[in-house]
Amino acid sequence: MPLVFNTNYVNNFPANAMAAFQRAQNTWIAALPNANATIDVSAVWGATLPQNLTAICIPNAIQSFLNAPAANVWYPSALADNLANQDLQPNDEDMTVFFAQLPQQFDWNVAAGHPRGNQYDLESIALHELAHGLGFAGGFWAIGWPWRGSYGDAQLIALANQVIQGSGHGQALGFILPILNGHPSIYGTHIQDVNGNYLTDPNHYVNNPPSNQLGAQLIGGNLFFDLNPRVPVYAPNPFVPFTSIDHLVDPTSLMRPGIAAGQQVRAVDAPVLQILNALGW
Ligand SMILES: [Zn+2]
Repeated sequence: MPLVFNTNYVNNFPANAMAAFQRAQNTWIAALPNANATIDVSAVWGATLPQNLTAICIPNAIQSFLNAPAANVWYPSALADNLANQDLQPNDEDMTVFFAQLPQQFDWNVAAGHPRGNQYDLESIALHELAHGLGFAGGFWAIGWPWRGSYGDAQLIALANQVIQGSGHGQALGFILPILNGHPSIYGTHIQDVNGNYLTDPNHYVNNPPSNQLGAQLIGGNLFFDLNPRVPVYAPNPFVPFTSIDHLVDPTSLMRPGIAAGQQVRAVDAPVLQILNALGW
């Protein structure tokens, strides 16, 4: 069985926007032909999101499941289902994607044609957000100044809960966010510094308490996902929660830090696919 998306549309999600969301899902189904998972998604229309956010994906996460490749590591539940060859949490959603109520001067492009200059392309942004739900979620956190960095930090979950509750559709989240207990995400375990040391290797970086060494790396603009060749990940100063590390530097990639109005990216580029394959897709 290939990848299957089971989508629950919330808050009068328009039919033409559903069609655009489904086109994005179909692109993922085609990109991951060896996947074996049924992904339960909620898609929320008209959410109130923090300034500048067009959409956000909140993935469910699970650890220590049957045949988990690594212990004490958080996997997005969609990926865990794929690795376990079963729906590990049949009563829970795997991810919820919130699409913003855009400011008046902007508009969603839900059509198959190219977005106009003041339109955000829903298909492109859905494709990008689904990638977060499939695994592009580093679980890192940093606060300054001086910057102190950590992963699996309760403050990350607190901020996520704040965004979810502020969306006006908090009840649409079809799962309870886990307490991360200082454990890394599977994506996070692949992040290296310039010397090839892993940020989640306790022999190199202290996580508890949050450390200046981790903080400096998280805002240092010099981090990589450990493919061959290594893929630079976005690590700006200041740290941006849910954006730093979870995106690629390449401005043409699907997983660049943001897809601006007027831009369209409706294909999965090779590094993005290779990263998902490395995570276990
Ligand atoms: Zn993103």
